[in-house]
Amino acid sequence: RQARDADSRQLPAITTDGCRLEIGVNLNRPAQVKEALEFGAEGVGLMRTEFLFLESDHLPGEEEQLATYFSMQDALDGRELIVRLLDIGGDKQVPHLALPREDNPFLGVRGIRLLLRRPDLLEPQLRALYRAALSGRPLSILFPMISTLAEVNDLKTECERIRGELGAPRVDLGIMIEVPAAAAMADQLAAHVDFFSIGTNDLTQYVLAIDRQHPELAAQADSLHPAVLRLIRQTIDGARLHQRRIGVCGGLAGDPLGAALLAGLGVDALSMSAGDIPAVKAMLRNHSMEELQRAALRSLSCADAGEVRRIAEELA
Ligand code: PEP
Ligand code: MG
Repeated sequence: RQARDADSRQLPAITTDGCRLEIGVNLNRPAQVKEALEFGAEGVGLMRTEFLFLESDHLPGEEEQLATYFSMQDALDGRELIVRLLDIGGDKQVPHLALPREDNPFLGVRGIRLLLRRPDLLEPQLRALYRAALSGRPLSILFPMISTLAEVNDLKTECERIRGELGAPRVDLGIMIEVPAAAAMADQLAAHVDFFSIGTNDLTQYVLAIDRQHPELAAQADSLHPAVLRLIRQTIDGARLHQRRIGVCGGLAGDPLGAALLAGLGVDALSMSAGDIPAVKAMLRNHSMEELQRAALRSLSCADAGEVRRIAEELA
């Protein structure tokens, strides 16, 4: 029985009518890769690099970061690796960085807003990533907390400068879609990047104006809210317009009901915690894309998250 379960976890996420979704894992460190592959991950859809900074008493420099990215590539043995640039701020504070206290940290200097102000953080990370790319093994770079095209252009300029200095190959550059402004402008942003990754955790908190950690309200920050799904739909349309790859790496992707609707809405890839992979694959393998699309379409005209959940549960 155990052997059979292990085998079925390695099956691809193909719907009964033959549509395949890529299934990635969200993780922090190389030591987590082995288990993720056992759970059926096909690659790393989101490597959060905050841990390099959160679990250290010093700023990890270029060499230290490079060693980590190399071991990720070693562990992945040719599979996809999407590394997200440091997303500090909001709920993720680094004590020894001593950043100024903000009244609304989730609306403050967070993610690339911080990196664009701090070349001492951005440069070593980009240099380490482009040096890792020199190995010729898969690697893509993902920018967190993008809200404007100007930010994308500034980061791309920086990437090109560093790539040129190192003589490194081009790598795919993608952006997190987790700020409503980015979702609304997806058709324009897509022209300037290689891929999108939707962060439903932040997108939900910003769309519903609920702090994702609020002790009283966080439970209401439901990513199945039709307002969130409509922005996801809009983001997918924007990506399609320019034939860009679009994935989801927020918590919704790891919920079988959410994954079913996201597939029906038209995303190419889902990335989630390792433990969520088997149930999501099973859900997708048990339905046709036609059924998923019908449910997704209906969900867009629901009045609230509860109604959406009932539609998704009918599928399950
Ligand atoms: C998200 O916001 O959905 C996301 C994947 O990023 P994080 O949870 O790290 O903010
Ligand atoms: Mg986020």
